[in-house]
Amino acid sequence: MKGFELHEPTSVQEVVGLLDKLGPKAKVLAGGSDLVAGLMKDWVVGKGMPYPEFLIDVTTIPALKGVKPSAGGVAIGATTTLSEVIESKELNDKFPLLTRAAASVASPLIRNFGTIGGNVNQRPRCWFFRGENFNCYKKGGDFCYAVTGDNRYHAVIGGELCYIVHPSDTATALLALNAQAKIAGPGGERMVPFDNYFVGPREDVLRENVLKPNELMTEVVIPTPAAGTKMAWTKLKDRQVYDFAIVSVAVEFTVDGAGKWADGRVVLGGVSPVPYRAAVVETALKGQDVKSAAKQAAAQIRTVARPMSLNSYKVDIAQNLIERTLLQALG
Ligand SMILES: Cc1cc2nc3c(=O)[nH]c(=O)nc-3n(C[C@H](O)[C@H](O)[C@H](O)COP(=O)(O)OP(=O)(O)OC[C@H]3O[C@@H](n4cnc5c(N)ncnc54)[C@H](O)[C@@H]3O)c2cc1C
Repeated sequence: MKGFELHEPTSVQEVVGLLDKLGPKAKVLAGGSDLVAGLMKDWVVGKGMPYPEFLIDVTTIPALKGVKPSAGGVAIGATTTLSEVIESKELNDKFPLLTRAAASVASPLIRNFGTIGGNVNQRPRCWFFRGENFNCYKKGGDFCYAVTGDNRYHAVIGGELCYIVHPSDTATALLALNAQAKIAGPGGERMVPFDNYFVGPREDVLRENVLKPNELMTEVVIPTPAAGTKMAWTKLKDRQVYDFAIVSVAVEFTVDGAGKWADGRVVLGGVSPVPYRAAVVETALKGQDVKSAAKQAAAQIRTVARPMSLNSYKVDIAQNLIERTLLQALG
């Protein structure tokens, strides 16, 4: 592994100043489980991803840590660890969907130092992107090796140019919870709904979210759900020990007095370059009795799926998992 210069700022303003001054070779460092242990040690470099020469450690900034009340909801500081998220009584009471998604991430050891900001902003796990010998689109190359190669874990919806799937379980849950990201940059702070936070390959193949090189995520803010809101999380993995999702499903919805779908979200992980909001399923549920409509609504996912040569099995799993998660949320 190559050397790097470590910075340990004590305020968000200092981080922004450093990122702005040092440019794209400076990266925000949180737990380091992806950036250092993954990308830098595995030498994932290319024209589109220069080797990080400067690491800006944000875990030394007290303001970025912890679960706090926020206008109309709860704010989670970006360096709050996944274990702290899982152990928070407030988050368990209000957003069990998020704490279950966080508990399904990696192993206890990684959750003890991996942060919510790092989890949402981690880079893709695609084995061609991570592989030293593949200069793919994401690294500034001109090919997606998944198109002709082993694509069993790749995108079945929304792939274009590049067929990665977004790896973050908490991002999938946060999109279902209608969360927002607070971002700090040289121009000050801005709030971006998770609906607009993730960037697919057509928009910009070199990144997965709207963050500019001189910006960082400081908080995620989740609105308090209406009374009686139903939510559930399911994740299917290849193996029982820690692993990324083959498919995950996060649902949050309200029903009227007759048990009919009033409003809500159905979000899929592991199927698309961004956490995927299944609008076709939500539309099919509108005004319907959720229990009796779940099967048919889940089948709508087939209308937007475009599987590759080795991954059509994911579409079957997605359909079944959507139905199961909707029924699970009903209790
Ligand atoms: C064996 C293994 C299994 C795993 N399994 C899963 C899994 O099942 N599900 C899952 O979701 N994840 C999984 N992961 C990924 C793991 O959860 C992430 O590596 C971890 O959450 C990243 O957190 P971190 O704090 O260590 O991030 P870092 O490695 O420090 O950072 C990750 C990325 O996010 C950026 N970043 C970090 N904080 C911020 C911020 N505040 N603002 C802007 N950018 C920021 C960094 O620059 C870097 O690019 C697994 C990882 C491993 C190694």
